[in-house]
Amino acid sequence: MSEAFHGAKYCWMNGEIIKTEDALISAMEPVHLSIFEGIKAYVENDVNGEGRLNIFQWKSHIDRLSRSAAFCGLKIPYTKEELLEAARKTIKANGFRTNVYVQPRIWPKAGSLEEVHVVVPVWTFDTILGRGNPKFSKERRFMISSWRRIASDALPPQAKAWANYANSALAVREATRLHYDGAIFLDNRGFVSEGTGACIMTVRDGKVVTPPVTASILESVTRGALLKILPEDLGIPVEVRDITRVELYASEEAFLCGTGWEITPITSVDDLPLGREYPGAFTKRIAEYYADIVANKVEKRKEWLASM
Ligand code: PMP
Repeated sequence: MSEAFHGAKYCWMNGEIIKTEDALISAMEPVHLSIFEGIKAYVENDVNGEGRLNIFQWKSHIDRLSRSAAFCGLKIPYTKEELLEAARKTIKANGFRTNVYVQPRIWPKAGSLEEVHVVVPVWTFDTILGRGNPKFSKERRFMISSWRRIASDALPPQAKAWANYANSALAVREATRLHYDGAIFLDNRGFVSEGTGACIMTVRDGKVVTPPVTASILESVTRGALLKILPEDLGIPVEVRDITRVELYASEEAFLCGTGWEITPITSVDDLPLGREYPGAFTKRIAEYYADIVANKVEKRKEWLASM
């Protein structure tokens, strides 16, 4: 039974720690406007081991949750601190001492336009980060999806709403059917948008290039962190601008970035290999530094971590 709940016996729902199997909503609830967040807590000093946990970028994630709620007209009846406490309590109740994923979920209540149920489930995850982790350098063949990313005048990609993930699920299913490891969306103008659950960054001539928010992307917390640390900490110049499909094919390296996907290198797009070495040197360096930050080894970025 706990398999179905990712091994988590307990979760937090509407103010209380309860058994995960009891975290139920009625089939009559209007689920189409539900929203969520995906947040990770990493073990300190060793991304793969056991020990003290720190939640990465809590504030930015909860700020985005508040924006998603505002776009959808929902009212979250808890403060940022109360939700952080809920996550801490839930992780403790489950006795987790290794890397944990926290996914606050919010559903509108039946018969109300604003009132919601709030659930905070947590479960453990396996990271692809960490020096010498073989999962990091695994081959990953991507395709350009035949599905376009949802246009912002139809469904706002900036809201982390479950409805947007129907678009992602169609692209994942297509990629799986065609034996690719994943899909990259173009936006409705034909420019590169993002992955199905992560943003995309490319490397060209020593610069990292990534699509703008106007390319129908989710305003990714990881992308935001990289836009700061690449120039400030690693001395890598960054350009935020539209990328054409052919420019993506011609890039020396490309990687996905996101809470779930962490920093994931891409081997090829539409069977066209990117660059000469895989994973590329920039991608590796950025992933190693990101791993150090989430493991609380980087003094100047400690403020991005909330201790447990
Ligand atoms: N785009 C999409 C569609 C996503 O689902 C995610 C994951 N939340 C991201 C980008 C990356 O966002 P973040 O870095 O905030 O996890």
